Amino acid sequence: MTSCLILADFIGGKNTKITAELATAAARIGEVTAVVLAPTGQGATYAASLNQGAISKVIVVESDSFAAHGIGAVADVLTQIIATKNPAAILIASHAFGKEVAGRVAVKSNCGIITDAVDVAADLTATQLVFGGSTTVHSQVCHGTAIITVRPNSITADLKAASPAVESLSFEISECAKKATITSSKPPLQGGRPELTEADIVVSGGRGTNGDFAAVEAFADSLGAAVGASRAATDAGWYPHSHQVGQTGKTVSPQLYVACGISGAIQHRAGMQTSKAIVVINKDPEAPIFEIADFGVVGDLFAVLPKATEGVKARKS
Ligand SMILES: Cc1cc2nc3c(=O)[nH]c(=O)nc-3n(C[C@H](O)[C@H](O)[C@H](O)COP(=O)(O)OP(=O)(O)OC[C@H]3O[C@@H](n4cnc5c(N)ncnc54)[C@H](O)[C@@H]3O)c2cc1C
Repeated sequence: MTSCLILADFIGGKNTKITAELATAAARIGEVTAVVLAPTGQGATYAASLNQGAISKVIVVESDSFAAHGIGAVADVLTQIIATKNPAAILIASHAFGKEVAGRVAVKSNCGIITDAVDVAADLTATQLVFGGSTTVHSQVCHGTAIITVRPNSITADLKAASPAVESLSFEISECAKKATITSSKPPLQGGRPELTEADIVVSGGRGTNGDFAAVEAFADSLGAAVGASRAATDAGWYPHSHQVGQTGKTVSPQLYVACGISGAIQHRAGMQTSKAIVVINKDPEAPIFEIADFGVVGDLFAVLPKATEGVKARKS
């Protein structure tokens, strides 16, 4: 049977939502094997968290080099796994880390690569949205194992329970892969709100906030939502770049996306247009974002959001 590897995605030892999304796409191609690269002694715990989705098997490799040498060590081991298992494809999360790993693995294993796919079909055809989402491209790797990075939140994850078989392997990590050492790192500040790409609800603010995100944050907190921002807001220094939604920011696909004071430029839409429901608050009834809104309020966000926040809180109590 055709086999497809996925690189299980962990942040701070926690399996992220993208792992199940990758497994869902991989299951269309063949039997799904998740690769878990864990610190020494933690492989079993990491593997045990892969208890959802279409994963048939887990390959665990333990090494402290993954934390010490980062991308170099991860790419080195993945290249060796591909050489050993010869899968039809390997799917990797399309964030900065995943794309750099994928690029290195493609060079080391002389295989073709496609990045930023939003879908992958059973015949390994990858779909990409380019030029800010205005053009759809279908492509296939025509040499070696198909190395495909998949954008988070593009595929609806199959979350059925799974109890995959676990295989532990060990590989020598080359000296070349250890040439860069991570001297320190700290996890991103979460501030108690959910991670942007994982949240079920995202409330975003744009230039219309005029730099005051208090009303956006209060509404987000009333809903237990993550806070996003347009590039106009992040470029102005009003909100951290790590919260930017769009073509050059993060892709989100929550159940509910609330855009406050955002005009709806194509580059912003590219990062949120697959949200299940879109609510818009904008004082300009001609703002293009209303074209993709399921529900729109024409009004000043500083008047609308506090009332909406009060309403949500009243419903909850
Ligand atoms: C290569 C490239 C990549 C880009 N990548 C991204 C990206 O990843 N993400 C992104 O967001 N942008 C990106 N952009 C920028 C994008 O083109 C827009 O400039 C940006 O999205 C505009 O942000 P905005 O909607 O907040 O601001 P504006 O376009 O200025 O819109 C502000 C909106 O707020 C409304 N408003 C004003 N005051 C109020 C109020 N009090 N109450 C309610 N509404 C109000 C206005 O009516 C207006 O519609 C990119 C651009 C380029 C060229």
